[in-house]
Amino acid sequence: MEKVILVLNAGSSSLKFSVFALPAAGSMHPVAVGQIEGLGTAPRLKVKDGAGERMVDEQWDMSEVATHAQALQRIAGLLRSRFQGSVLAGVGHRVVHGGPEYSAPLLITPAAMTRLETYVPLAPLHQPHNLAAIRAVQEVQPDLPQVACFDTAFHRSQDIVGQLYGLPYEYYERGIRRYGFHGLSYEYIATTLPSVAPEIASGRVVVAHLGSGASMCAIHDGRSVTSSMGFTALDGLLMGTRPGNMDPGIVLYLLQQEGLSAKEIEDLLYKRSGLLGLSGIGNDMRVLLASDAPRARLAIEHFVYRISRELGALAAVLGGLDALVFTAGIGENSARIRQLVCEKASWLGVEIDEAANEQGSLRISRTGSRVSAWVVPTNEELMIAHHTRKLLAL
Ligand code: ADP
Repeated sequence: MEKVILVLNAGSSSLKFSVFALPAAGSMHPVAVGQIEGLGTAPRLKVKDGAGERMVDEQWDMSEVATHAQALQRIAGLLRSRFQGSVLAGVGHRVVHGGPEYSAPLLITPAAMTRLETYVPLAPLHQPHNLAAIRAVQEVQPDLPQVACFDTAFHRSQDIVGQLYGLPYEYYERGIRRYGFHGLSYEYIATTLPSVAPEIASGRVVVAHLGSGASMCAIHDGRSVTSSMGFTALDGLLMGTRPGNMDPGIVLYLLQQEGLSAKEIEDLLYKRSGLLGLSGIGNDMRVLLASDAPRARLAIEHFVYRISRELGALAAVLGGLDALVFTAGIGENSARIRQLVCEKASWLGVEIDEAANEQGSLRISRTGSRVSAWVVPTNEELMIAHHTRKLLAL
C-alpha cells in the first residue's frame, strides 16, 4: 500500500492540513490540501485534491466539532474513506517554538512533549494549539509516529551577538533572546535556491516573507544570519494586524498612563494594529491596493517604508547584498508591492525589470542589475513533509 504523510498546522481557530503521497518511485506530492476554519464558532471544512479541484466544502455543527481533537477525528474519518488504498505512516507538525534548544525537527516522545510545554510562555498564542494537535493525534492513533518541525529552528545558526537584547545578561540565559520565526519558509527558500537560482544560492540574500504575518531574513550561504522577528512574532515589519517593531516605552505608556490591561495590550498588538489599524479598512493587501482611501495609501506606504528600512539593516549585517527574494501571499502575488520595494532599494543596486515583475517571473531584475531580485513561492508544508519523511526514514 502507498504510504502517506499528514502535515498539520494548528492555529487558535483553524487547522490546516496536507496529505503527501510517498510513491515507491517518483517524488513526494500533495494529494489533499485542506483547512478547518472557525473552530469554536462556525467550523467549516474545505479540502482540495492535489490538482486544486474541490473535494469537500462543508459547514459543521459547532456542538460536535469544537476542539482540535474533534476536528482531527473528522479529518481522520475523511482521509480513511478517501484514501482507502493508502497507509498513514507519520504526522509532521508545524510547532512555532523550539526554544533555545532545538535546531532540527524532533520525534515526539513523552519527554519531548514535556520539554515543548515549557516553551508555551514564549509563544502563548500559538504553542498550546500546536501541542493540542499533537495530543489530538495521539488520542486518535497512539502508535503513529509524529514529528515537530519548528519555526525557530532555521535561525539557531545565528551568532550570539545578534541574538542578544541589551537587557542584563541573565535575561538572555533565561531565554529572552531573538529567536526569529517563519523558519520553515526560509529553510524551504534556502534549500530551493540551489536548483532555481544557483547563481545566488551561496551569496548574501535577503528573503522577504510578506504574508499576513511578515518578516525578512538575512541568509548567507544558505544559513540564517539574522531576521526581523525577535523574541516573538510581533517584532520587525508592519503586518496585517501587528505593528512590528516599536518603542517598548509605548507599552509602558499604555499600561501606566492609559490604564490598559496586559490582555488589552495583547489584543491591540496582535489583532488591531498593522495594515488594519493604520488603514481603518482591513488587513487584506488586495483590498487596500484597490482602495483610493487616503489611509489605505498611507498604510501601504508605511508597509513599504518599513520593508526598505529593514532591508538596509539586514544588508548591513550581511556586509552587502547579492539578491532580494520575495515570497508568501503578498510577496508572490503583488507586483505593485514588489515594484515599490525594489524602487526604494535602488540605492543598493536593485534594478527592477517591470515586464518580468508584472508577469511574476522567477527573476524580476534586469540583466546586469548589481543586486538581483526574485519571486520564489514558499512551501512550508512540503518542508515539514520532507523533514518528517527523513526523520522517520520513510
Ligand atoms: P498567512 O499564511 O500568513 O496567513 P499568506 O502568505 O497566505 O498568509 O498571505 C496572505 C496575504 O496575502 C493576504 O492577507 C493578502 O493580503 C495577501 N495577498 C494574496 N494575494 C494577493 C494579491 N494578489 N495582491 C496583494 N496581496 C495579496
